[in-house]
Amino acid sequence: MNPRTLTEPREPATDARLLDALAEIVGQAHVLTDPELIEGYTRDWTGRWIGDAIAVIRPGNTSEVSAVLRACFDAGVPVTPQGGNTGLVGGGIASAGSVVLSTRRLETIESVDPIGRTIAAGAGVTVARADLAASAHGLRFGIDLASKESATLGGIVATNAGGTRMVRYGNTRAQILGIEAVLADGSVLSRWTPLVKDNVGYDIPGLLAGSEGTLAVITKVLMKLVTPATDTQVVLAGVRDVDQALHLCNRVRQSGLTVEAAEIMTDDGISLVCAHTDARRPFGAPSPMYTLIEVSSPRETEESLLEVLSDSADLIEDATVEPGPARKLWTLRESHTESISASSTTPVVKLDISVPLSVMGMFIESLRETLADRFPLVRPILFGHFADGNIHVNLLDAEPRVAHELTDTVFRLVAAHHGSISAEHGIGRAKSPWISLGRTEADIAAMQLIKSSWDPRGILNPGILLPEKV
Ligand SMILES: Cc1cc2nc3c(=O)[nH]c(=O)nc-3n(C[C@H](O)[C@H](O)[C@H](O)COP(=O)(O)OP(=O)(O)OC[C@H]3O[C@@H](n4cnc5c(N)ncnc54)[C@H](O)[C@@H]3O)c2cc1C
Repeated sequence: MNPRTLTEPREPATDARLLDALAEIVGQAHVLTDPELIEGYTRDWTGRWIGDAIAVIRPGNTSEVSAVLRACFDAGVPVTPQGGNTGLVGGGIASAGSVVLSTRRLETIESVDPIGRTIAAGAGVTVARADLAASAHGLRFGIDLASKESATLGGIVATNAGGTRMVRYGNTRAQILGIEAVLADGSVLSRWTPLVKDNVGYDIPGLLAGSEGTLAVITKVLMKLVTPATDTQVVLAGVRDVDQALHLCNRVRQSGLTVEAAEIMTDDGISLVCAHTDARRPFGAPSPMYTLIEVSSPRETEESLLEVLSDSADLIEDATVEPGPARKLWTLRESHTESISASSTTPVVKLDISVPLSVMGMFIESLRETLADRFPLVRPILFGHFADGNIHVNLLDAEPRVAHELTDTVFRLVAAHHGSISAEHGIGRAKSPWISLGRTEADIAAMQLIKSSWDPRGILNPGILLPEKV
């Protein structure tokens, strides 16, 4: 079936029969159809994407997920998998006539293995809960992001999330060992091995990382855990520009310290955070930019860091150092997303991009000039995990009618600097019209072949990630 036909009107009786069948599988209490109840599932975190659904289905285990998908497959009804609904590109927002399959009830932590350093858990377990379970064994979960109280393990795998620790431990794909997932026709696929060395065939967990709900519904994950650094220090330094921040980060590394996290913020961003939270400005005099770098070393971290800072007067305007976890300093960074949303008069255009480190300074400069020239009413706030080349470009007060042109302008600038239009949030609905700026025709055709072989009826998240075939 061509995916397009999925969105064509169906007989109301077909939907009614399907809903009865789904209630038989998961229980009537877990089939939500009341518009008030489903609103939290059909509207995204940013308020930019408002979808629709015939129902939200909340299966409680893998067999139920399998039976739900089989029923939707037979009825030809599209399914949008959804975890914590913290995604920022509209990938978990269903279109009219679809079913939302919420994984939040798949919330069992099956085991934490302190010797193998792994966690086995349901896709609906939140990142914060996984981290808490790991902490009980002196370990940590390797992915950390400001949405961790709601973002789920299935969601971070499906988006291949990055986050603040990516510079240290890699992205989500780098942490997956095993996966259980249900395919569109309801069959259950399990690649479940704790082996870090296992080269038998294609990397299926790796393929599902970043698949954004278009290939399968992830039901369980087996992920690596990390040994936390014991002696961490956090520096917040005022710098003139991103190049100075990159040089500082480099000096920190060359001194033998391990970089645990490296973030960049602008003075405008810090001002917003101070206006919307009880955070205080870090220094008496503002700097154009601020970098927050968390470091560790086996011993004398503080002394080593202070030495680097005293040798870096040429790069730093002001600096403050606190022992980890330094929550107050981190709040300045972690409150950005919420403060930005609260401050914009229109839904924020959020573009998560990456560029090579060597051109990051040039990119930021031309971005600012272009925006000031073509969109003078738009307020740009930039921040991000800059040591990974990642900048979150937030465009505030942008009239919805200019959002497409604005996005197009930024993405073309990114492409001209050999960057990526999606560093860590995925493509979702928001970026699929621009996928050809990030991938060649042959590459897109190969991805479409994978999609059609895994999901031949095109029921899983049609229109997300890959443009729909006409
Ligand atoms: C304040 C804030 C800070 C953030 N910081 C970061 C950050 O630092 N780094 C980062 O990478 N992201 C960040 N994000 C974005 C978001 O938290 C991540 O994309 C996260 O991985 C989404 O997880 P979720 O469970 O909420 O997924 P959802 O939003 O529910 O879904 C996201 C996508 O994954 C699919 N999906 C979800 N669960 C499954 C499943 N079980 N099987 C198959 N497909 C599934 C959905 O269909 C959708 O396409 C942030 C978001 C917010 C609101």
